[in-house]
Amino acid sequence: MSVKLFAMTCGWLTMPAKMILEGMPGALRLPIPAYLIVHPKGKAIFDSGLHSSLQNDPAERLGGLARVTTVEYQPGEELSARLAAMDIDTRDINYLINSHLHFDHAGGNDQIPNAPLLIQRPEWEAAHDPDLAAANSYDLRDFDLGQDVRQVDGEFDVFGDGTVVIFPTYGHTPGHQSLKVRLDSGDIILTGDACYMRKTLEDLHLPRILHDRDAMIATLQSFRALERRGARIFYGHDAEHWANVPQAPLPVV
Ligand SMILES: [Zn+2]
Repeated sequence: MSVKLFAMTCGWLTMPAKMILEGMPGALRLPIPAYLIVHPKGKAIFDSGLHSSLQNDPAERLGGLARVTTVEYQPGEELSARLAAMDIDTRDINYLINSHLHFDHAGGNDQIPNAPLLIQRPEWEAAHDPDLAAANSYDLRDFDLGQDVRQVDGEFDVFGDGTVVIFPTYGHTPGHQSLKVRLDSGDIILTGDACYMRKTLEDLHLPRILHDRDAMIATLQSFRALERRGARIFYGHDAEHWANVPQAPLPVV
């Protein structure tokens, strides 16, 4: 039995384009992805999307960001509802993996109550360091929930057979990580915010706000090398790319 990957859209955010691609005018409408990976040995979630309270009152959690952000997020689009639509009980998820701890990647962690959280050690530590937490805009309410946290140092093979592998992709935040998923059709790289869009990768066009520019460039070069070896890159928030990604309950093939 092989590994299956399911893509889910848990809302959309429209933001100034310059936040995503430095210097770019206008606004960008960004999909908020979450992924379900079904392995013969268990189920994993990669990124949990937005907190469900953003469906009613985005300003309460987003603060100043709410002034420049339009939130499209309806009841039924949160991760738990997406899973319920596939007859999957959130309590049956074996691993919760966050690329990083920003609100649009870890906001739905409270919807996956039983699974241990797999996160890079520098990301977890930064989120609990007052200065780094402020600089990186973490919100403890998203992820400091008393869940079992397993801090990962570097690469981590989730199911022990090389098919679902976490690897460090620092730069966007102090401990960002991405996921390699081996399907029958080949490898897919879920970049998270290490690579917002195709243009980020093709032009090394960085966002305005990031933690470490050199680390981010090195991460993007590593994605280019993986792509040259045949991997397919799934960007963090690229609407054009996302339009061609099958949505759950259809698997990515
Ligand atoms: Zn982010």
